[in-house]
Amino acid sequence: MIVMKFGGSSLADAPRLLQVADLVLAAERTPCVVLSAPGDSTDRLLAVARAAAAGRADEARDGLAELFTRWTAEAEQLGVDPERVPARLRRLRDDVELLLLAAGRDPAATARVTDAIVAHGERISTSLLCDVLQRRGARVVEVDARDVVRTDRRFGRARPDRAAIRATARQSILPHLATGTVVVTQGFVGSAPDGATTTLGRGGSDWSASLLGAALGVEEVQIWTDVEGVLTADPRVVPEARPLVALRPEEAAELAAFGARVLHPATIQPAVDAGIPVTVRHTGRARGSFTRIAADVPRAGSGIAAIASRGPVSVLTMTSRRMLEASGYLAKLFDVFGQLGVAVDLISTAEVSVACTVEADAPIDALREALAELAHVEVTTDQSIVALVGEGLRGTEQVLERACRSLGALLPRMVCFGGNSRNLSFVVARGEEVEVVRRLHDEFLGGDRRWDAELVGTAASLHQEVSR
Ligand code: ADP
Ligand code: ASP
Ligand code: MG
Repeated sequence: MIVMKFGGSSLADAPRLLQVADLVLAAERTPCVVLSAPGDSTDRLLAVARAAAAGRADEARDGLAELFTRWTAEAEQLGVDPERVPARLRRLRDDVELLLLAAGRDPAATARVTDAIVAHGERISTSLLCDVLQRRGARVVEVDARDVVRTDRRFGRARPDRAAIRATARQSILPHLATGTVVVTQGFVGSAPDGATTTLGRGGSDWSASLLGAALGVEEVQIWTDVEGVLTADPRVVPEARPLVALRPEEAAELAAFGARVLHPATIQPAVDAGIPVTVRHTGRARGSFTRIAADVPRAGSGIAAIASRGPVSVLTMTSRRMLEASGYLAKLFDVFGQLGVAVDLISTAEVSVACTVEADAPIDALREALAELAHVEVTTDQSIVALVGEGLRGTEQVLERACRSLGALLPRMVCFGGNSRNLSFVVARGEEVEVVRRLHDEFLGGDRRWDAELVGTAASLHQEVSR
């Protein structure tokens, strides 16, 4: 058994959905197929929900009509009875009307109904693919992810209950796979203890795939997307970025946490805990290269694996003379962040000041107010984090010197050697992020450190080449 997860980019239109069907039918092991919403549907559904919640009825209904038109046309192209699309989506229309009624009055209902609306993107994908597979003679069953992926009630960013998922997946998915029946289910979607629809946060389908893979004990979790695996940088930023053959789980998790959007940051853990390799593959180039992420990949002694970046973030610089003599001062300071539910990312300290990064949407005014008694606070917005990642980072000669030299006049606001020694991060102005990534890539992964295909074969040789 395997899990095959296809992202929105692989499901954006009818020809691509047919390509997905081909891959599913060609799979050598029985797949549990996990699907995202088609293309940018999630963005559009969120826009519809936001308009409805704000009482902008025309905008919400127009947005919905546009989606219906698009999905109906796609069904027609696929040879699926187009009448079935509106029938399937009646509930979506009802939810949008419900949100219009609750507009501005009930924030709890807004969060709950928004998740119910957004989940329809994944649901249209699974119903279209199931129809196509059935008509091509496959034995296939559609499983509603809400019956399997149990979560808490944090709408929009629900946390999964791994023990419950293990039990439900074994009950409602495993028996089908065991008899060779393909299972198709939604990524990103789950349900709260009272049955309300929840979602796992943007990009969360990867996480669903890994959770289900771990619950089912599959041989491999395959993440099918629009790139040939994890590359040395985001190809949209560095066009010459090249695919990595193998990565250690810690490296992949670190890259995801620092912005490599190809994997949701929570994806790696469930699979690795269960000893299952994760592969990242290109839907349009199934025979091309791909990345294997597994615990048996050797640790590189030196070399950077890849560069990731993430923004916008804000830097908070907190200054107080009390820092000089007081032990326990930092604990008090960061307790304020904890109480306000603000996650702190990078930290660096000086004699009487400490700087840290927080997400751009953190409640800065509330933080400033709550910290007023403890420190003077300065906030710098519109910053980005750029991270060099690799097990071999520490062993890379003059890594810091080379990084700083390549940045030249692009002076970083903060520099952090990650506590785990596989991460060297720079906080730079948002406008300089792209240039910083390109220069670092050039220095550590590009130019004459060109890919030599013959050397590739094992992860060890890969890392050797990268570090040369
Ligand atoms: P999907 O719709 O399949 O979930 P995503 O858009 O979420 O796809 O993720 C794939 C994208 O991630 C790529 O198109 C690429 O632009 C981006 N990306 C960022 N960093 C990397 C990286 N290091 N390697 C590969 N892709 C990356
Ligand atoms: N469709 C969801 C999103 O766009 C989940 C995913 O694609 O992973 O965020
Ligand atoms: Mg994604």
